[in-house]
Amino acid sequence: MNVPFFRSPWQTPSNADSLGATFAHILQSGQYILGRAVHEFERELSARLGAQPVAALNSGTDALVLALRLLELQPGDEVVLPSYTFFACFEAVVRAGAVPVLCDSQAHDFLCSEKEVVACMTARTRAVMAVPLFGDASAIPAIARSCRAMGVPLIEDAAQALGARVHTEERGWQQAGTLGDLGTLSFYPTKTLGAPGDAGALTSRHAHFIDRAMSLRNHGLHAGCHSDVGYNSRMDEFQAAALVQGLGQLDSWLDQRKSIASRYLEGLAGLDGISLPCHHEGHAWNYFVLRCTQRDRLRAALAQAGVQTRIYYSAPIHRQPAYLKRFPGVHLPHAQAHAQQALALPLFPGMAEAEVDHVMKAVALASGRT
Ligand SMILES: *Cc1c(COP(=O)(O)O)cnc(C)c1O
Repeated sequence: MNVPFFRSPWQTPSNADSLGATFAHILQSGQYILGRAVHEFERELSARLGAQPVAALNSGTDALVLALRLLELQPGDEVVLPSYTFFACFEAVVRAGAVPVLCDSQAHDFLCSEKEVVACMTARTRAVMAVPLFGDASAIPAIARSCRAMGVPLIEDAAQALGARVHTEERGWQQAGTLGDLGTLSFYPTKTLGAPGDAGALTSRHAHFIDRAMSLRNHGLHAGCHSDVGYNSRMDEFQAAALVQGLGQLDSWLDQRKSIASRYLEGLAGLDGISLPCHHEGHAWNYFVLRCTQRDRLRAALAQAGVQTRIYYSAPIHRQPAYLKRFPGVHLPHAQAHAQQALALPLFPGMAEAEVDHVMKAVALASGRT
């Protein structure tokens, strides 16, 4: 049996058919960018995020660029962010003209804790970017509390965490994406809400940020004038219409992710040399990433058994050539160890039980359990 790392829900015939009909309508309408579907998606996503304003964008990367632009950073300002995250986080900071200060992950977990973030803050820190990596927002509330206490704006890059939730004493249940001053989302096909293409969004409880982002995404256009030097970060109607349909299925997709993750956590417990991801109530399970001391061997054995895996991430940002070209090297031992041990197993809505069983059998066999 072959198990792909990912299959998009848009590949299933019923979704493909209904999306095809929707796309035919859009083609006939002649309105392809920032039209009715985009506005409908913005309304529905905003409702899902507890009525927080939303600007639909072309990508999660541009959402980060716009978030930093809205904070009006000056050259030399520092932004604290994880080293163990997707490269786009770092790119956005560099493109804002700011200095990235990379912090280490925890030893037992891919996430940066509040302690690591605060240790990286200086008098020049003008923003913190926190990432609920792989769909786990559990570390964010403590970071948000410290940022509030210090008056430093928090960008929550929830690209992998739409649908994740966290519970705190003071605020009850909160949605990932709404935990900072600005929240960024990606709808890249493999994310919890995946589009059949590129798309993203910016959200904030501060409505003035979203008003300004709506102008910046469209070349700074405001009331017929270019009041800012902006960007082309617009969402198109095809992605928006698919995302409206996807939002309607998101809860079912999240439930499926959760039940596959539960099966993995139970079925793979206690295997030699394998550490399973931490389970937190509210985890959105965008990716199921284990750590394995013999990662490359495990990966090869799984490939042999027809199980496709991926590595998130094969090197932390501070070991990337693009970082080292501009900034001095730093030593972040946990991020480095994670990069050598992380392996993501297939986990996607629509994954068959037999596929999950096959993955678990192959992992158990490769790690010596018979
Ligand atoms: C996917 C992702 C992004 C970038 O989103 P795109 O829509 O692909 O531009 C940013 N940050 C993180 C953590 C991501 O996983």
